[in-house]
Amino acid sequence: MPLHPVYGHEELRARLATSMRAGRLPTALLLAGAPGVGKQRLGLWVAAGLLCEQGPGEPCGACHSCHLASTLSHPDIHWFFPILRPKGEEDKQAEEAEELLAQAVQARREQPLYAPPDGMAGIFLPLVRVLHRSAQMRPAMGKRKVFLVGEAERLVPQASSPEAANALLKVLEEPPPDTWFILTAAEPASLLPTIRSRLVQLRVHRLRASEVARFLSEVPQPPLPPAEAKRRADLAGGSIGAALAEGGEHGSADAAGRTLLEAAARGPIARLRYALGVRWYGGRGEFTETLAAAADLLRDRLAERLRNPGAGRADEPPATGVLEAIREIERARKLARGNVNPQLIVADLTRRLAERLE
Ligand SMILES: [Zn+2]
Repeated sequence: MPLHPVYGHEELRARLATSMRAGRLPTALLLAGAPGVGKQRLGLWVAAGLLCEQGPGEPCGACHSCHLASTLSHPDIHWFFPILRPKGEEDKQAEEAEELLAQAVQARREQPLYAPPDGMAGIFLPLVRVLHRSAQMRPAMGKRKVFLVGEAERLVPQASSPEAANALLKVLEEPPPDTWFILTAAEPASLLPTIRSRLVQLRVHRLRASEVARFLSEVPQPPLPPAEAKRRADLAGGSIGAALAEGGEHGSADAAGRTLLEAAARGPIARLRYALGVRWYGGRGEFTETLAAAADLLRDRLAERLRNPGAGRADEPPATGVLEAIREIERARKLARGNVNPQLIVADLTRRLAERLE
């Protein structure tokens, strides 16, 4: 699925396009701005503009290079962002990081409205090593290559081993020719000063509520109805990410949790249909709330059973089954905070719940 267009930021884009055309775009940029305002999308736009066959300048959107950029398949656009820490043997960790990143990019290719990375994810040393190595290679297609490093404040310098930061610093200090680095950060102050001093910082402002509403009514599939789009946009503080994560009112999580449990009980076809209908555009926040609500409903049911042991119906699942079902939901919640597709999580979870709650 191609990336959605960039929404808003016209003034900044005009400035960036002018610099690109004039060949004056600094080779190490920091796009700083609130979470969810589209910093990485903007970084990909700059990368496309630098590599455009009609450019450099504003990406034409029509050439082969722009097409590859818009499908996240351009070999000279290297997108790095936080991933989970590789766990294998030390000399294999860079390979593992490269593989984890490739999988995460593939997930974003399939679903460009991605949720923020897992809280445990970071830009660990093995990933920086991959970046360092790719930076030394010549461009695969054209004359330039671009490295986009999203959420750069999640670069992990441990006090005892600051190698990750040093490796990044080294590549920024001695940038290979015709190579651009674009870092994004919501909290630039938490970047190491040595790294920050290498970067030209540009501020990415919050979007207008009307722009967020337009995004919500045009990009997600299915799009949000105009009234809902406006309601969410008004609450989102100029952040598309916040608007996507903004769930329904409280209480709707309860209803959603109940629907999930009902779907689990209704057989394989109903489960599959339910899983396919999971609204990923609600964001991980809404999804994990639904799971939490489903677990709470089961807990309530269990508590009620313990209070009135005789009152239960004969066809109710045993208490141990309910407990195991709660555990399954907690497991799914953990997965939901990572990069796993919510539809896959739900398909698996509802099947397991059906078994436990027979
Ligand atoms: Zn182009």
